Amino acid sequence: MASRFSGALQLTDLDDFITPSQECIKPVKIEKVKSKTGAKIKIGEDGYFDLSGGKEQKLQKVEITLADCLACSGCITSAESVLVTKQSQEELLRVLSERKYTDSKGVKRDVNLVVMSISPQPILSLAARYKLNVQEATNKLTGYFKKLGVDLVLDMRIAEDFAILEAQQEFLERYHNQQNDPAGKYLPMLASSCPGWVCYAEKTHGSFILPYISSTKSPQQIQGSLVKQFLAAKRELLPSSVYHVTLMPCYDKKLEASREDFYSEILSCQDVDCVITAIELEQMLSNEEKSLADLECANLDWPWEASDESGVWGHAGSGSGGYSDGVFMHAAEQLFGVTNPSMEYKNLRNPDFRVVSLDKDGKEVLKFAIANGFRNIQNLVQKLKRGKSPYHYVEVMACPSGCLNGGAQVRPPQGESTRDLVTHLNSLYRSLPQSEASENSLVSRLYTEWLSGRHSDKARALLHTQYHALEKSDVALNMKW
Ligand code: SF4
Repeated sequence: MASRFSGALQLTDLDDFITPSQECIKPVKIEKVKSKTGAKIKIGEDGYFDLSGGKEQKLQKVEITLADCLACSGCITSAESVLVTKQSQEELLRVLSERKYTDSKGVKRDVNLVVMSISPQPILSLAARYKLNVQEATNKLTGYFKKLGVDLVLDMRIAEDFAILEAQQEFLERYHNQQNDPAGKYLPMLASSCPGWVCYAEKTHGSFILPYISSTKSPQQIQGSLVKQFLAAKRELLPSSVYHVTLMPCYDKKLEASREDFYSEILSCQDVDCVITAIELEQMLSNEEKSLADLECANLDWPWEASDESGVWGHAGSGSGGYSDGVFMHAAEQLFGVTNPSMEYKNLRNPDFRVVSLDKDGKEVLKFAIANGFRNIQNLVQKLKRGKSPYHYVEVMACPSGCLNGGAQVRPPQGESTRDLVTHLNSLYRSLPQSEASENSLVSRLYTEWLSGRHSDKARALLHTQYHALEKSDVALNMKW
């Protein structure tokens, strides 16, 4: 196995990663040997040898890629076996220094444009870490990336608004489908922007749960389509010559970026080439003995249109992107004519399982939930399996407290509890200007000019994805002798 990991990845506890270790299910065909005593394996200097057939037979090496890890939690739950050779700060620095080198030699560049897309949660995490306000942290991060050689540093508001609008639309469709086909598996619609949850669902509950998961891509992957397909075309560049990096709150986003679903055969590239996290950014700075607070500022880029509307935006609702609120408010208005419904969530089992409902004419017509953390996710799935889920929509997030507490956010300093830090990050998120997706005029224009309309095949292809049930089979990498 490859072993060039991000240093931060090795040092951190990986509590955003799925369940504790299971056996790897990478499907590798193994010729079974009939033996009552099981196989005998000798470990030699140049490999493993099977001795069970009476003579030594060298065992084949098995190649595991990061995409394979999506099929299994055996690898991704143990830090030493996570394959992130293309998903580390070292890789980003390598690409940037290679480009500087080719430029200095006057050699044609392989990478014509390096784009860094930064999501709000790691910005807030770094702002708290370096005691900066959000604007300062954003500008200093932008200055840092520019100094490293990144060409464009972008916020992710457009992608986040696209994701909310598509989720809203998808919910209405599923609601009507469920009315017309009560036996169908349309509701509850389960949020899809958390790859930790999606990965767990694919591996653990497979074909039972997948029909419920929203097909809308996460903001990271929508941003990937925007950068590789819209921006590259606008700049007359080959998408494969654009290197797209994202700054994210968890390692699971690296796995998401590596999914085969987000690789285009036609364009020969992934939508997102590299993901780095808040904690890795902190480590990059510490390796250089720098503090974010001391760096020069620069402004975010806005390559979409002439007027500059760059900035860090939040959404009403949870600090994980506000999906539950966004979908609820839209559904209340479109389905029941209720504008601005009360969004008072009630804690159900614990603060990480919250429920909000809409009553009309004395009847509960909508019931939404936010389920954070695997304990609550497991309870939700059990309810669904027993046919006892009362929800129309659930914002499912793998991390307790959601993305503000992502597994690769900077940990609290000594003396501060995680809970206090998350409370602080929540208040920072609440202080951000709130984007109202339906009022984003650039997004409306992009629907028309880039995607050929709101419900076009192109919009479907670029803003939605699919999932794959990955059941355990009797052919497994973990051979048990
Ligand atoms: Fe990542 Fe958010 Fe999911 Fe945590 S909840 S794994 S931070 S997407």
